[in-house]
Amino acid sequence: MTNVTRPAEVSNYETVSHWFDLASKRLGLEDDVAAVLRSPYREVTVQLPIKRGDGRIDLFTGFRVQHNGARGPYKGGIRFHPEVDLDDVRALAELMSWKTALAGVPFGGAKGGVNVAPAELTAAEHQQVARAYMDKVEKVLGPTRDIPAPDAGTDAQTMAWLMDEYGKLHGHTPAVVTGKPIALEGSYGREAATGRGLVHCFTEAASGLGLDPASTRFAMQGFGNVGSWAARILCDMGATMVGVSDASGAIQSDERLDARALHDLLAQGGGLTDLAGAQRISPEELLALDCDLFVPAALAGTIHRDNAGLMNCRVVVEGANSPTTPEGDAILRDKGVMIVPDLLANAGGVVVSYFEWVQNLQHFRWEEAEVNQKLERVMRRAYGEVSARAQADGESLRVAAFALGIERVLDAARIRGYIG
Ligand code: NAD
Repeated sequence: MTNVTRPAEVSNYETVSHWFDLASKRLGLEDDVAAVLRSPYREVTVQLPIKRGDGRIDLFTGFRVQHNGARGPYKGGIRFHPEVDLDDVRALAELMSWKTALAGVPFGGAKGGVNVAPAELTAAEHQQVARAYMDKVEKVLGPTRDIPAPDAGTDAQTMAWLMDEYGKLHGHTPAVVTGKPIALEGSYGREAATGRGLVHCFTEAASGLGLDPASTRFAMQGFGNVGSWAARILCDMGATMVGVSDASGAIQSDERLDARALHDLLAQGGGLTDLAGAQRISPEELLALDCDLFVPAALAGTIHRDNAGLMNCRVVVEGANSPTTPEGDAILRDKGVMIVPDLLANAGGVVVSYFEWVQNLQHFRWEEAEVNQKLERVMRRAYGEVSARAQADGESLRVAAFALGIERVLDAARIRGYIG
């Protein structure tokens, strides 16, 4: 039976390597230059012993990988997930280098993680892990060095604990993390930014495909920060959610599923299948739903050679990082499915993280409408640049996005004198 979880033989790292190699060939990079660009600048691995409620000590491992800082301070989220390992964090850090360059924000790329299952932590234990992580990695962080943000398994509350812990050592420094709560100098619009940016990418793609966003039927894989915001914004535009999944399972409806009602239900402790009008389906059936738009917004490698052939949509807009393996990508493209790649589609989060950092440095807050307007401008510009490059090179949006990102990083590295 096919499975939504990724096949073990294709790691996130291998997927990123595949696309880097294709793009670097297209750019004609020499092997030595490509090797420098691929290798991370710094990798930190730390021990995190956490005392649980029953007195036992659990030992977790924390990572921070700083991939490339040629264009500015390192930037990237922190993930709490039991499968986090160094290779995974390396791949995610590298994606951030190309993504920040593609979006045109003045940051490098980094990523962090802890191999912990947040669902198994109490709030007090989650706080302990966050503070222990900051204590161990603070020396390589800072508003002009490396600025973390939320990712899967972490949220605004986690960022508040990280900021507070950093502040104990360095004084109040809100610009050391982004994605903070509004009450602690977070930015209006940051929480929704990745989902909102994804929807801007979709509306750009829709106009090329002759799709009307208001009459779009979509399916959403993953209903966390990215998925639930993208779904709510799409539904607000009039689109119909025909199916949705999270780690607990998947549901569909012959009518429409209400994304706001689902968000409220989950916030109150309910489950996906409690949603009015929902029929439980398997994760494979979700992939196979007849729809215009499919959004993978969970984890890496969920669309692969064993299940991509099941898909029945016109466009995939990638909310998650590396949700599609290279073989899954080839199958979808053979079927004529358009793919808007992660580097572009989920860049909205780091764009508004940049806005948050700018506001923190100025100790000044922008209105939400201003943030959203600026985000829209950046996303539409980035989409136009990737699309034009894909057409000029006769390449997919994905290879064009990698090529543009890599080219900009290389340019900055050369001007600085890092690479001759
Ligand atoms: P999150 O932890 O808020 O949500 C993850 C969602 O995926 C949850 O609903 C979870 O139940 C679901 N999920 C987990 N395993 C699943 C499975 N096998 N099938 C279906 N659903 C499953 O995480 P998030 O912040 O929304 O991040 C999701 C993805 O988007 C990650 O790949 C992350 O790297 C990427 N991303 C996030 C941001 C951001 O701003 N949060 C920015 C860019 C990219």
